[in-house]
Amino acid sequence: MTDARPAARVCVLGPAGRMGRSVLEAAAGRTDVRIVAAVSRPESGGHGTQVIDGVLASADLEAGLTVCDVYIDFTSPVATRAVAEHAARHRRAAVIGTTGLGPVEQAAIEQLARLAPIVVAANFSLGVNLVLGLVRQAARALGPEWDAEIVETHHRGKRDAPSGTALAIARAIATGHGVDYDSVKRHTRDGDVGARPRGEIGVSAVRGGDVIGEHTAYFFGAAERLEITHRATSRAIFAAGALRAAAWVVGKPPGRYDMLDVLGLQ
Ligand code: NAD
Repeated sequence: MTDARPAARVCVLGPAGRMGRSVLEAAAGRTDVRIVAAVSRPESGGHGTQVIDGVLASADLEAGLTVCDVYIDFTSPVATRAVAEHAARHRRAAVIGTTGLGPVEQAAIEQLARLAPIVVAANFSLGVNLVLGLVRQAARALGPEWDAEIVETHHRGKRDAPSGTALAIARAIATGHGVDYDSVKRHTRDGDVGARPRGEIGVSAVRGGDVIGEHTAYFFGAAERLEITHRATSRAIFAAGALRAAAWVVGKPPGRYDMLDVLGLQ
């Protein structure tokens, strides 16, 4: 069956970044999206460089947001906030994958979501979104008597820790336990931290080399242990998910959606 919808016109932020490049590559093979603009950081070089046929990298955010139906953001928290505030004036749809967002950035995103449809996800891969459902189910079935811990590994260039994906997994476990994550989280252990309290959810970050992203959720029981692991071996999976989200979100009512909505798994 062919989709009669016209291709979604996409503006990519940070075309020279790891994810920006991956999004541009992944878009080349698709008919549901068309890259129409690429906006790079004003202070960065490379403006005027051709990123794909007929599209030059530009520092002109205003022009980029004007010609697109939806923008894709894998940048930094500072940029995500500034662009969301700008996009709110255009009521522009968005796909936001930047992680490490604090309350101020989240508020800017929520404000945009009141005016336009947006998809926000710490991880755009199908596998990780299935993991979110699996760990919630495991936590519900096993209860806090099984100690839940998450270990995530990423390349040396990653700035935020723990990863947004690890936090999403931790929150899904807390939901399965029926508790507020912030009241049970443990992000670092150093020194005499005492015995592990029941119900604590620990998250540890490992950094090195060129690891694209690995997450393991451990459930430690008495004399048995369950491990749910996801390993990404290419950024193409995140890029494909973000492009699928971009095609999906155009024309939706204003609101904040996640990848489970896009995948029809909600
Ligand atoms: P990167 O540093 O390689 O790329 C970021 C790019 O954003 C750079 O090219 C930078 O110049 C550009 N940028 C910064 N400010 C900008 C602005 N104001 N306007 C336009 N461009 C701007 O980083 P990366 O590895 O591509 O990751 C970017 C973000 O995406 C990180 O937060 C990372 O954790 C996240 N990420 C999310 C997923 C996911 O599935 N949600 C997957 C991978 C990475």
